[in-house]
Amino acid sequence: MIHIKDVLTLDGTQVDHFVASRIDQEIDGRGLLLMPALIDPHVHFRTPGLEHKEDWAHAARAAISGGITTVFDMPNTLPASISVNRLKEKKEIIDQALKAADIPLNYKLYLGADKTHFEQISEAKEQACALKIFMGSSTGDLVMDDESSLHAAFSLAAAHNMIVAVHAEDEALIHTRQNAYLGPNTPLAHSIIRNREVAYRATEKAIHLARLYKTRLYLLHISTKEEMQLIKSAKQDGVAVFAEVTPHHLFLTQDDYATHGTHVQMNPPLRTQDDCDALFAAIHEGIVDTIGSDHAPHTQLEKNQPYGKAPSGIPGVETTLPLLLNAHHEGKITLKQIVSLMRTRIETIFNLIPTDDWVLVDLKKRQKPERLHTKCDFSPYSDRELQGFPVTTILKGRAYDLASLLP
Ligand SMILES: [Zn+2]
Repeated sequence: MIHIKDVLTLDGTQVDHFVASRIDQEIDGRGLLLMPALIDPHVHFRTPGLEHKEDWAHAARAAISGGITTVFDMPNTLPASISVNRLKEKKEIIDQALKAADIPLNYKLYLGADKTHFEQISEAKEQACALKIFMGSSTGDLVMDDESSLHAAFSLAAAHNMIVAVHAEDEALIHTRQNAYLGPNTPLAHSIIRNREVAYRATEKAIHLARLYKTRLYLLHISTKEEMQLIKSAKQDGVAVFAEVTPHHLFLTQDDYATHGTHVQMNPPLRTQDDCDALFAAIHEGIVDTIGSDHAPHTQLEKNQPYGKAPSGIPGVETTLPLLLNAHHEGKITLKQIVSLMRTRIETIFNLIPTDDWVLVDLKKRQKPERLHTKCDFSPYSDRELQGFPVTTILKGRAYDLASLLP
């Protein structure tokens, strides 16, 4: 049994909390806040095939240092996770890596939608947490941009009661805008080419398909004010649509290209402060359901290339909670909202059995998140002083002292 003494709960009461464990351990909880451990419904841990960017040993340490004990991993690996066999192979590699790292992280896998493997939707439905559709291209070659494939995917997913998770950017419009773009080849071009209309059109189409086939739709990384309006009205109409936002769309804007260049290039791209404010407003209105880090690491060498060559994606699994705790201090979000967005709503949407995993947070601790565990070893937030950090994460009856984790 793990006995956490004199710890504060979210309600502000001081309690002794017990967690079932094979080890008998006492933890001094004075001055610490007890939160349910978080779930990150959107990570790219890059296995198999892209382990030079990230691997599960580094990523598992990164996750628990961010108070996260469950992750949902994306299918755009090499090869891509587009079949029940590929999911099984991936699972074996992950289980081995987690065993070697001695961190039994909970995880779920997305099935990648592929227009030549529709039969896999019925075969892999027990193995996957959702069907992932890339309507716009990103890392890897999983893109589904034609009408008939999208209709097939949405109707089949509905028939097999599978959630469809969508990366909503309109591929055709991206190409048109790219070809028409005559401005300078700087990272800001990314936000100009993949503009708000690119996102809006695809989100609108995805909601239309969900309405048509009664598909449960999980919209990944929603980045604009207008999309939130669309989602709000779809929800009011009773469409089963769920919205995810990322920390980078909450805490960074396109002005950050000036300092961080391609290190803050991702898909969908950064927007304006007005959009960041609209996303927070949508959190308070209950339009946003979840926060996912979209942890999408690349090496510094890859990211240091000029715009056009540098890949899209930034790490985030271990900085998400500190950013949110810091935002809590600024009055932008409540602790209960953090738990809802990164735990309870996700359990409900994806029908998960709640874990007995916990995180102890020091709300007073101030530091820059410089010491990262992700293999890619950079973060656009490492120069920001944040207040509020996890200090101990309890995963499957074992307490991990985060200060003594391997780098
Ligand atoms: Zn992603």
